[in-house]
Amino acid sequence: MGGMNGEADATAGVDARLEGLCSLSDAIWRYAETGFDVDRSAAALRGTLEAEGFEARTGIGGIDAAFMASWGKGAPVIALLGEYDALPGMSQAAASPQKAEVVEGGNGHGCGHNLLGVGSLGAALAAKDFLVASGLPGTVRYYGCPGEERGAGKTFMARAGAFDGVDLALTWHPGDVNSVLQARTLANLSAYFRFTGKAAHAANAPHLGRSALDAVELMNVGANYLREHVIPEARIHYAITNPGGRAPNVVQDVAESHYFCRAPRVPQAREIFARLCDVARGAALMTGTACAIRLSEGLSDYLPNGILGELLQRCMERKGTPAFSDEDRGLARRFRETFSPAELASALSQARHSQGAELADRLAGSPLAEGASPLFRGDALLPGSTDVGDVSQLVPTGQVICACAAFGTAPHTWQFTAQAASSIGHAGMAAAARVLALACAEIFADPGIAERAREELRAKTGGVYECPIPDDIQPGGDGEAAAEPRSDQVSRVRSGIGGQ
Ligand SMILES: [Zn+2]
Repeated sequence: MGGMNGEADATAGVDARLEGLCSLSDAIWRYAETGFDVDRSAAALRGTLEAEGFEARTGIGGIDAAFMASWGKGAPVIALLGEYDALPGMSQAAASPQKAEVVEGGNGHGCGHNLLGVGSLGAALAAKDFLVASGLPGTVRYYGCPGEERGAGKTFMARAGAFDGVDLALTWHPGDVNSVLQARTLANLSAYFRFTGKAAHAANAPHLGRSALDAVELMNVGANYLREHVIPEARIHYAITNPGGRAPNVVQDVAESHYFCRAPRVPQAREIFARLCDVARGAALMTGTACAIRLSEGLSDYLPNGILGELLQRCMERKGTPAFSDEDRGLARRFRETFSPAELASALSQARHSQGAELADRLAGSPLAEGASPLFRGDALLPGSTDVGDVSQLVPTGQVICACAAFGTAPHTWQFTAQAASSIGHAGMAAAARVLALACAEIFADPGIAERAREELRAKTGGVYECPIPDDIQPGGDGEAAAEPRSDQVSRVRSGIGGQ
């Protein structure tokens, strides 16, 4: 390392830019754009990278607001993943420990993706500084990934080959502890079931009607019976996205529901989904309606990488815990007062399970997680899903969680939105940027880490990645009843599933 103080040089780029990073994060928090409609947020991130000499390409994977910005030459090629989409209905005043909607029914960063996108960007800029200072070969790529909450952006990007040439990926997520994410997540298939029947006057001529709403209800009944006969880790949820109108005296001719089908592995999710399709066809047969099934998105399960997990743990213990102030602790205490005893108890029991008893005891008395959790080396499964899963199936992926909120703050709540634009969130974001920057420097200095991480992935997957989304499904096609019912659609989707 030519006499450099590697650690300091690896993270200095984060500290030097901290003020700018915090205001960029706050700007994206205010934009609060959702899904694939995140143009302003993407432009702000991309512009910052371009001003630092990164070369950017947009429209990755057929998504306008998806981009990749690259700096450097040669291997190893490190991908830093950034997200920036908000959630509907999560509007909340910045840093306020009282529930206060800013825009009625407006969007808000209830998952802290404003911090996520900018934290990864801070790491990319510091990694560039490190490459300049060290003269080592290597490339850092920042991936701007829209539609994590809804849309499966990374899965579409993965399907389009956006991660070709990448040696490994690193990312993080805002949370309420500081830990390396070494748990798997559930694969998820998302589909719309649209039933078409025949309208009729419900009192005058019910015998002439065929109710699409009946079909939706019977499908749900069948799905609820199906639950008992699937593996216990599976999760099936639905929402009725079109109940067929508001008039009880009209037989509903069109109705639709939206299903998620989750299981630890994609093939298991596919098997359950195929049985769910049979349930839908049964409901159509019972009601004399037609059923069109449209798979809208899919997410692979997240595969943690042990080599990258060990590396990130070392980096987190050295550089990656947030430097909270007394003011942050005071604010966090006020947020903690808004949690019910049951909410706090549930957070503590989860921490006991996933972070260890010692840390859980400490968190019982302190409003903020200030140290790093011990590395979890067992086989854990989180009951959610993420599109980082698809990246992790393609290239070795490491992920950390940094405390950006008072301990016990659940994601997708007004409390999370508020803290994502507070000094607590800023401190967590800075810590994440430092951990990822340090990890990049370690990998550039010792490319053998990337090779070992890749070998581990190859041993797990055999080097095979099958995208859970069929080729003919386009990004952003998950709007309600967007597809016209077609009689061939069921078999087409089915063969799409079977063929993968
Ligand atoms: Zn999130």
